[in-house]
Amino acid sequence: MAVANQKGGVGKTTTTINLGAALAEQGQKVLLIDLDPQGNASTGLGIALDRRDVTTYDFLIGDASPAEAVQRTDVPNLSIIPATTDLSSADIELISNEKRSFLLHDALRQLPMDAYGFDYILIDCPPSLNILTVNAMVAAHAMIVPLQSEFFALEGLSQLMLTIREVRQTANKSLRIAGVVLTMYDRRNNLSQQVEADARENLGGLVFTTVIPRNVRLSEAPSYAMPALTYDSQSAGSQAYRKLALELMAKDKISMRKVS
Ligand code: ATP
Ligand code: MG
Repeated sequence: MAVANQKGGVGKTTTTINLGAALAEQGQKVLLIDLDPQGNASTGLGIALDRRDVTTYDFLIGDASPAEAVQRTDVPNLSIIPATTDLSSADIELISNEKRSFLLHDALRQLPMDAYGFDYILIDCPPSLNILTVNAMVAAHAMIVPLQSEFFALEGLSQLMLTIREVRQTANKSLRIAGVVLTMYDRRNNLSQQVEADARENLGGLVFTTVIPRNVRLSEAPSYAMPALTYDSQSAGSQAYRKLALELMAKDKISMRKVS
């Protein structure tokens, strides 16, 4: 699943880390792929720079094997392929590569990946609709779109939807939207309520029932190099991501039943 929104700072990385940790807590085997040159997901999970010899860049563009690229984190069931700033040159380096949109797709579907038996692979995308995000959309079965409960939240969404449609028409026919998740929600704030009402009116069932509240524990946890679920297990933020994980797993069961 690609966690994407080209708008910056809307909660993509926070969602990737904590949804990943919540799924792992449910006994799911989870891999996070840090597809952002900022490397925030890697830092937030305690992968220090000196442990990033092999990165998403090598996994996509070099010839790093899954065994070289996948690292365990301190969270049971949760692994990561970390990123560094070298990923920022991918855009330019890939211009002349015919398979440039399929690099992540192909890397994830190589045989050695099966041995890990991951139940969920969450891809933390950069704040842009560049070739990296397109790689995530081509590789993924579904998209998770964090939407910050602020004014302008819905503005960039039509551009994102257009890109999803384009990817469906060209490279990944079955790309679904798993859901749009409202983040940094403040119950006492009229604006949050307005954004939620607008989102539910315009996007209907695409919006997760679970909303993620604005919660200081979620923003503190990365500086302690751990998910909020570890840092403060009972915080409102941790509880919300647990609820989101359960909602996602329930939705997945339904869509899998439809497929079979
Ligand atoms: P970028 O586009 O730069 O990759 P992003 O979409 O990944 O950003 P985050 O890094 O997850 O967004 O969040 C942006 C900032 O908001 C961070 O400082 C994060 O700690 C904080 N934040 C995210 N979600 C919440 C929340 N629910 N409550 C409080 N703070 C939050
Ligand atoms: Mg981020």
